[in-house]
Amino acid sequence: MTIDDAFAFNCTLCGNCCRWEADGNPASDNLLSGADINRMAAHLKLTPVDFAGRYGCAVFDPALKLKVVRLKKNPDGSCILLRDGRCIAYPARPRTCALFPLVRGYSFAMDDGAVSFAEEYFSRGPKAPMHRCQSEEILSIREWLVKNGAPESDDADRRWFIKLWESHKKAIETPSTFELLERAFIDLYGFIYV
Ligand code: SF4
Repeated sequence: MTIDDAFAFNCTLCGNCCRWEADGNPASDNLLSGADINRMAAHLKLTPVDFAGRYGCAVFDPALKLKVVRLKKNPDGSCILLRDGRCIAYPARPRTCALFPLVRGYSFAMDDGAVSFAEEYFSRGPKAPMHRCQSEEILSIREWLVKNGAPESDDADRRWFIKLWESHKKAIETPSTFELLERAFIDLYGFIYV
């Protein structure tokens, strides 16, 4: 889908997208970018290091072949930031959440040593909670982004995903060792250690 395509959705603030796993559906693991961590830490008046330690967990992602930070979950599978049915970091929530039920995908290519990329939008699969919400409102993707405070042109997010893609490319070219994984992790999330 392009930014001017329309889709139907009506958010009823049910919070199902934050307790997807608790609701018996596949977990929606929330990968945090460095920009997400910085934004949410500032909102919660924490340092990025404290935020990542309290609400994030560093895990090896077999598809990316990298160690990345994901949001922790409560024992019932709901998101750690969900309290009394509300997100405690809502204005600064991860881009993944602000875009829900859409996904912004980046496809990358290497051109003469420079990385070029294209952005595309996808709707989530048929098991996503959106399919149990009544679809009443027809919006273009551009309108949805404005409504949810997610910038159309998100340079910090984009830079981080370019870095993620470069690290992933290196990781599939080189057999992973503990040292290489840690080095790639520090490169991606270096601010956590400052
Ligand atoms: S970060 Fe906030 S909006 Fe996103 S899943 Fe967690 S509680 Fe929901």
